[in-house]
Amino acid sequence: MGDIDGGIGAWGFARGGMGAMSNAMAAAFEDHGGTIHKSAGVEEILTKNGRVTGVALEDGKEFRAPIVASNMDVKRTFLKHVDQNALPDDFTRAVTNFKIRGSSAKLNIALDRMPAFPAAPAHASFLRGDMHVSESLAGLERAYDDWKAGRWSEKPYIDMLIASQIDPTVAPKGAHMMTVFVQYAPYDLEVDGVRSGQNRGETQRNAMAETVLNQMSVACPDIRERVVHVEVRSPLELKREVGLTEGNIFQGELTFDQLFFNRSVPGYAQYETPIKGLYMCGSSAHPGGGVMAAPGANAARTILQRETCGKRMTGYAA
Ligand SMILES: Cc1cc2nc3c(=O)[nH]c(=O)nc-3n(C[C@H](O)[C@H](O)[C@H](O)COP(=O)(O)OP(=O)(O)OC[C@H]3O[C@@H](n4cnc5c(N)ncnc54)[C@H](O)[C@@H]3O)c2cc1C
Repeated sequence: MGDIDGGIGAWGFARGGMGAMSNAMAAAFEDHGGTIHKSAGVEEILTKNGRVTGVALEDGKEFRAPIVASNMDVKRTFLKHVDQNALPDDFTRAVTNFKIRGSSAKLNIALDRMPAFPAAPAHASFLRGDMHVSESLAGLERAYDDWKAGRWSEKPYIDMLIASQIDPTVAPKGAHMMTVFVQYAPYDLEVDGVRSGQNRGETQRNAMAETVLNQMSVACPDIRERVVHVEVRSPLELKREVGLTEGNIFQGELTFDQLFFNRSVPGYAQYETPIKGLYMCGSSAHPGGGVMAAPGANAARTILQRETCGKRMTGYAA
């Protein structure tokens, strides 16, 4: 589905890893006079008489502003950080019902050198690309059944890429770095008949990594010998470290009932919210998750139109 500079099916690589994208955007913003406060969690989006008035941070600082654009997911924004009394009941109900269950995990693997892929021709170009390991459609269905039952897939679908072949800056010379996207991984694991987001520790994480390495060894049998270190990120870590509710990587499931005019929720699909001056600009809004910037670009246009009657605001790119 990718498209880079007109090349259909191509995927983009940011030198140094995906954080380079955020750093580039931050640098552009600061270059245009913006100020970024890092490690500054929002505690509350302040409102008065149905209008936004600013934000209060976890450390107690407050910033007054007539416009606030929230990049947090819709559940986090409205159920955790906005006074419920400021919201209509039907809106709160719709946000409560918004589905945001995490279903994927990530393994970042340091390799001492390239693993062997005996079934591939020597130096096959596809080894530099994004490789998927799945044995059959029925197998994918079973992997999804495991998720429904609150289990990590016994035979997961994996999508792996040895990024250091394209960007050598992400690994020491001669060594390699592999990113592995894994499905399915429920946020609320079932342990002893109880499903909970907290049902997870080192043991479960290691067990998941083992399952993934088993599945990978179908394609590269020497993978275990090549591994120097494995970093596992399950939906719980994505929630704790990145602030993604239930570890859903797209700030809300991309199911048909939550797309287009229904995203984020019916009646509020145009980046506006029941609070005047408060806008949604992240992936909970249309068209959803993915590294494409579309929700933010659309939200910026909406804000320009609504707040300035079409006039250009200082500090915004056209
Ligand atoms: C493991 C993984 C693999 C992915 N793979 C791909 C892929 O291959 N291709 C692709 O296109 N997309 C992929 N995605 C999805 C893509 O990364 C996201 O859709 C995209 O980054 C979303 O951008 P965003 O700006 O809308 O939101 P986010 O990047 O989710 O930004 C939300 C921000 O809000 C912050 N936040 C949360 N709570 C608070 C608070 N209280 N106060 C202050 N800040 C807060 C978070 O820390 C975060 O920085 C992947 C995501 C993950 C996690």
